[in-house]
Amino acid sequence: MRSTDHSERTNDSEEVGKSPRRDLAALASSLRQHLSYQAMMGLEWLPPLSVPSTQDLPANLEMIRSDMGECSRCRLHSHRTHIVFGEGNPAARVVLVGEGPGQEEDRLGRPFVGAAGKLLDKIIAAMGWRRNEVYICNVIKCRPPRNRNPQPDEIESCGPFLRRQLDAIRPQAILALGSFAAQFLLSTQQPISKLRNRVHLIEGIPVVPTYHPAYLLRNPLQKRKVWEDVQLLLSLVRGETKRSE
Ligand code: SF4
Repeated sequence: MRSTDHSERTNDSEEVGKSPRRDLAALASSLRQHLSYQAMMGLEWLPPLSVPSTQDLPANLEMIRSDMGECSRCRLHSHRTHIVFGEGNPAARVVLVGEGPGQEEDRLGRPFVGAAGKLLDKIIAAMGWRRNEVYICNVIKCRPPRNRNPQPDEIESCGPFLRRQLDAIRPQAILALGSFAAQFLLSTQQPISKLRNRVHLIEGIPVVPTYHPAYLLRNPLQKRKVWEDVQLLLSLVRGETKRSE
């Protein structure tokens, strides 16, 4: 089988250039097929060809963290052990956004380090990256007491920090983990089941919502859907490569 495939490819490559018109038609057909596939996957927008400049990005994130300081802008400051600002590559191609810190995150000052974090690490590895190659953060930076949902005024106080983080990184795509992150980023009240497996846009950056890893721990049968969402996100990030084929 393998040698047959090789000979077919060799014959194809030998034909390339002999008929520019036929080459152009083949290229157009290939591009049409690729765009049809992207449309089927729910793509409404193609990412830019250029990778964002990394110049000054670390400084920008540091500046945001510095502006945050020992924040007491909302009542959550009185319960926290550590602010969980976010971590990872300041020039990441993908940012993963969760809801807020849990007990372990609050203790260590790092996002997604509990049981859900371990599952998230596996998802990141399945995407082909190491944890330090992406950027991970949350909508709110301090743990709500007893892991309750953040209140609207708390989100209003903390949300601008996330928006500044995303603006500093300008990733090629965002994976919104759970209904809370998706609804905040997309300014909607739609349930995650309606938002997932689609490409949304915020300020030119594509957002793919999916289920939160903590939800997956309770509902492992939903992992297949998360994998579908991750594939959609990867098709966005790899769009440059595919378009050049
Ligand atoms: S949750 Fe955000 S706004 Fe509230 S105290 Fe923590 S860092 Fe400040």
